[in-house]
Amino acid sequence: MKGQAGVILAPTTTNDVATIVQHCFEARVGVVPYGGGTGLVGGQVCESGPTPVILSLERMNSVRGLSLDDDVLTVDAGVLLADVRGAAQKAGRLFALSLASEGSCQIGGNLATNAGGIQVLRYGSARDLCLGVEAVMPDGSILNGLSRLHKDNTGYDLRDLLIGSEGTLGVITGASLRLVAPPKHSISAFVQVPDPTQAVALLGLCKDAIGDSIYAFELISGRGFEFLRETQAALRLPFALDPAWSVLIDAGGDDEIALSARIESVLAAAHQSGLVMDALISQSESQRDAFWQVRESIPEANRKIGSIYSHDISVPVGRIPEFIARADKALLGLAPFRINCFGHLGDGNLHYNVFPETGRARRDYDGLRDTIKETVYELVHELEGSISAEHGIGRLKTGDLNRYSDPTKIKAMRSIKAAIDPRGIMNPGAIFGSEPN
Ligand SMILES: Cc1cc2nc3c(=O)[nH]c(=O)nc-3n(C[C@H](O)[C@H](O)[C@H](O)COP(=O)(O)OP(=O)(O)OC[C@H]3O[C@@H](n4cnc5c(N)ncnc54)[C@H](O)[C@@H]3O)c2cc1C
Repeated sequence: MKGQAGVILAPTTTNDVATIVQHCFEARVGVVPYGGGTGLVGGQVCESGPTPVILSLERMNSVRGLSLDDDVLTVDAGVLLADVRGAAQKAGRLFALSLASEGSCQIGGNLATNAGGIQVLRYGSARDLCLGVEAVMPDGSILNGLSRLHKDNTGYDLRDLLIGSEGTLGVITGASLRLVAPPKHSISAFVQVPDPTQAVALLGLCKDAIGDSIYAFELISGRGFEFLRETQAALRLPFALDPAWSVLIDAGGDDEIALSARIESVLAAAHQSGLVMDALISQSESQRDAFWQVRESIPEANRKIGSIYSHDISVPVGRIPEFIARADKALLGLAPFRINCFGHLGDGNLHYNVFPETGRARRDYDGLRDTIKETVYELVHELEGSISAEHGIGRLKTGDLNRYSDPTKIKAMRSIKAAIDPRGIMNPGAIFGSEPN
């Protein structure tokens, strides 16, 4: 997507953000908040309509404070996610949001999109890791919500409303973030499984046996390995022969020997009952990093191959095997696509991405793009899933939101937008399309 901008402003303080937004409110000029620009649904890219002000948070990048008593880190919205994690680590704590884009995305963008990532299974998404936000509202007023309270039931929760609002209700300028004690030891296992059904069964077994020690449970298809070999030849892959399906498990605990023994025991039991074909357990931190580098390199490999259509969907975990089998069958009935299905199996979120067959280009499939999307979304809808698990709606999915959402929800969302942003200046076109009210 290619955006347009009347002017790009990069203020350094919340008061300056407030002044800018107030002027835009008075002049009825649109404001597009811009974080790290890594969003995948075009929320930060305004392609058409009246030219907006692009409001970049990049210069608001300070850590404001740390309270170890409360386990809270307070930061400007423009701090990079990697720097938030680094500041927490320096204090002996963990900020448990982890995305492959963490070196570029900002915490304000993470909250605005309610980002997920690989540890949602253990810690929840961005919403669960935030105690309070400071924000500039569409009329230029400042919401001073940098709470350090873990409990606060005083009416409507504006923090929850702003999180996931994709810049349509205000500009997030600061956040108070929940920290946790990191596990003393972490171990990862790369596990070959026969198919997604057995992967889901293995998840159940792991939950029964090691419950809260599981931090991540990622599904990887053989196509992912194929794309990595094709685009990143130097990357070391874990298995000599790429498995058709594998899962990458991350587990943490305080006693390294006990943790290792529990993982070995659950994988041995899974092997005996046919859920697991082979497994590699990390023997060092660098081996664990190498496992995760494989997983985190898949989005880049996908980008280089170039998808015809990428879907970020969720279905109830138990329906994942049915989703994959039916979606594959329906799409491969249309054309011999290459499908790379991977993602956060532990929380039911799959990235189901469709690519041209070898030797052909994306444009060869232009006429099929809508059919691909509708085939996948209709199935997701039938299986009681979501057409956007963690990337948001942005500008790419506005029509899909209307089509697949509960009408009462859409009506309430429009009423909230009209009440908080009556002039429709905040990120015009995002979430609601061209007619917000
Ligand atoms: C390689 C790669 C891997 C990724 N992996 C994941 C993943 O695992 N999980 C996941 O959830 N996402 C993932 N993403 C998507 C993306 O990184 C997230 O959506 C991220 O949270 C966006 O943050 P950003 O700062 O880049 O926001 P931007 O892209 O700049 O903006 C995204 C949206 O938030 C709004 N916004 C930004 N900052 C503010 C603010 N301060 N106040 C109000 N609104 C604001 C924008 O207007 C826009 O609507 C990935 C992206 C890439 C490129």
